[in-house]
Amino acid sequence: MGRYTGPLCRRCRAEGMKLFLKGIRCSMAKCPIETERPAPGVHGQQRRKKLSDYGRQLREKQRLRNQFGMRENQFRLFFQRALRGRTVTGDVLLQLLETRLDNLVYRLGFAVSRAAARQFVTHSHVTVNGRRAAVPSMTLKAGSVIEVRNRPKSREQAKKALEAVTGKEMPSWLKLDANNFSGELVRIPTRDEISPVVNEQLIVELYSK
Ligand code: SF4
Repeated sequence: MGRYTGPLCRRCRAEGMKLFLKGIRCSMAKCPIETERPAPGVHGQQRRKKLSDYGRQLREKQRLRNQFGMRENQFRLFFQRALRGRTVTGDVLLQLLETRLDNLVYRLGFAVSRAAARQFVTHSHVTVNGRRAAVPSMTLKAGSVIEVRNRPKSREQAKKALEAVTGKEMPSWLKLDANNFSGELVRIPTRDEISPVVNEQLIVELYSK
């Protein structure tokens, strides 16, 4: 299946919660979730049907996958990597997702959304530990340093994004040096420190069938 190119807010409305897909707009009052717009479609205003177990598992997986803007195949590969982890599969899955390069660029504020961060990375605007990195899905180890390349175009874009997200809370497991356009993944976050509101156990159950 190809990349979703439809309206992003529609995805949040379908889930009934914010997935933060549009950057600055997501924290504004005109966000459709804030204005309580109903779910999309002709039946959007009807009460939601009670979901089956499978339906709940599927919704949970789609919600997390959409939040990170991933395709099904890639998401499944991440799950398979998580299965090989030594601790709880659901926790490892979330840790792998959080330590993706595009997600870290977004969390550090060098881009206003994950989609923008993905583009920022693929356009070769960042380095990881001093080496150019253009693969958004690469996962980083604790201690890795991400830096915006010292080129006017790269720094200008990062500066605009940093200004736009001023005041955004920085997770404790990341350290930002805004003056030098760099940031460090200080440590791998624990489950409690990871923000997606998701029941990852349902995802594990879905893929374990
Ligand atoms: Fe979702 Fe952001 Fe649109 Fe709100 S503005 S519905 S959070 S994508």
